[in-house]
Amino acid sequence: MTDSSTGTSAGNNAGNSEGENRVLNGLIDGYRRFRDSGWNPHRERWARLSEGQQPEVMIVACSDSRVDPSQIFDVDPGEIFVVRNVAALVPPFETSPGHHGVSAALEFAVQVLKVKEIVVMGHGMCGGCKAALTQELHGAEPGQGGFIADWISMLDEARAPVAAEFGTTGRPAEREMEQAAVRVSIENLMTFPCVRHKVKTGELTLRGTFFAISDGVLHLMDKDTGQFAPVA
Ligand SMILES: [Zn+2]
Repeated sequence: MTDSSTGTSAGNNAGNSEGENRVLNGLIDGYRRFRDSGWNPHRERWARLSEGQQPEVMIVACSDSRVDPSQIFDVDPGEIFVVRNVAALVPPFETSPGHHGVSAALEFAVQVLKVKEIVVMGHGMCGGCKAALTQELHGAEPGQGGFIADWISMLDEARAPVAAEFGTTGRPAEREMEQAAVRVSIENLMTFPCVRHKVKTGELTLRGTFFAISDGVLHLMDKDTGQFAPVA
């Protein structure tokens, strides 16, 4: 990361235009680096990608700024179809009113792109999973934590045994919750008829993974036991 000039001559109110420019300028600096190293030397690839995408894998990851799937898996543009949200959750198949963003992405990946694998990637130090465990946002109003509380309430059932065995605070409990959340997403994926069908016919494989931020180690879930082990 470059440390661009921030300037100090203007006002000092948080959120003033100078502060906004500092953030934007950082993004523009990054964009220029991308043009030099990620675009210009790879014109052919971008020309090919302009005709369409054929990723073989969909990845469901957390919105957390530390766990970018394309960085962790070191893939090129066009290789992974990604959905990121709080705690990397896939909700169950629901036809209730509302805007089902994850379901829409899933439908597109499975039915249109025909991805061969769906990888759910949980991670260490996940704030969403921590809130699911502590239930600290329980009862909050929408816009004051209520949307998060509602979203992570889909972990309530998985939370109960974790809280009973490990309590609701501390890394051992949090890690159990983080890995249980991956299992919930995998289970919920199977509630989608199109996913269930393709898993049964062997056209689609579901995989649970977990990225430990503190040591940078990726773990794979054993699909039979639900346990996670580090990738060798
Ligand atoms: Zn997270």
